[in-house]
Amino acid sequence: MAKSKNTAFFCSECGYESSKWYGQCPACKAWNTFVEEPVAGKTAVKGLSVVRKDSLTKASHPVSLKEISTEEKERTLTGIKELDRVLGGGIVQGSLVLVGGDPGIGKSTLLLQMCYNISDAKDKVLYISGEESLTQIKLRAERIGECSDNLKILCETNLDIIEQVLKKEMPKVVIIDSIQTMYREEISAAPGSVSQVRESTSILMQLAKGLDITIFIVGHVTKEGVVAGPRVLEHMVDTVLYFEG
Ligand SMILES: [Zn+2]
Repeated sequence: MAKSKNTAFFCSECGYESSKWYGQCPACKAWNTFVEEPVAGKTAVKGLSVVRKDSLTKASHPVSLKEISTEEKERTLTGIKELDRVLGGGIVQGSLVLVGGDPGIGKSTLLLQMCYNISDAKDKVLYISGEESLTQIKLRAERIGECSDNLKILCETNLDIIEQVLKKEMPKVVIIDSIQTMYREEISAAPGSVSQVRESTSILMQLAKGLDITIFIVGHVTKEGVVAGPRVLEHMVDTVLYFEG
């Protein structure tokens, strides 16, 4: 009897999943990008993901076809001209936006500035950090200036907890800094691995659509190739913004 497999191979460039190792990725043609990662139970079946009973959100309720509006949703201005321009005139409510770029290029600071601007306009904003402590964020924020009570900070990396917080707080805009630090307990691979990054992004997409919350995901681009980069996520999100130094 064959031993049941509990690992799979993933392309760290595009997220392609396979039961065997490839020197060159069949999907994106990149070389030496395959990494072996543990997979748990049903998620090992290619193309199938586990439907979680506890993740039923608004999107799971049928709505009358007649009541669905096709008008373009109102956009929220970020207050940063260049950002509003690349977003096509502001934030579309309920969208998932990937903000990619090299570590230390200023993604977090720009997004924090955006949080200031949006929370000043009376909207609830939640900045979730898995990279910095509350004190570190406070010190960085003090350089921007005084902020409104509507801007809240959470230091957390467990997505099951984050999901509960979002459902309770119902902010208008959420920042996830960064996707490489987030994890779901069900996935046995380490944070930053291809399967963990893919699963985290898929959960965040469900939350954005289901709760009508706009979520910005920070994704670091790394050259080492072991940590899953933003390219794994590009096809999973609504908008991709790249920062270049
Ligand atoms: Zn690939």
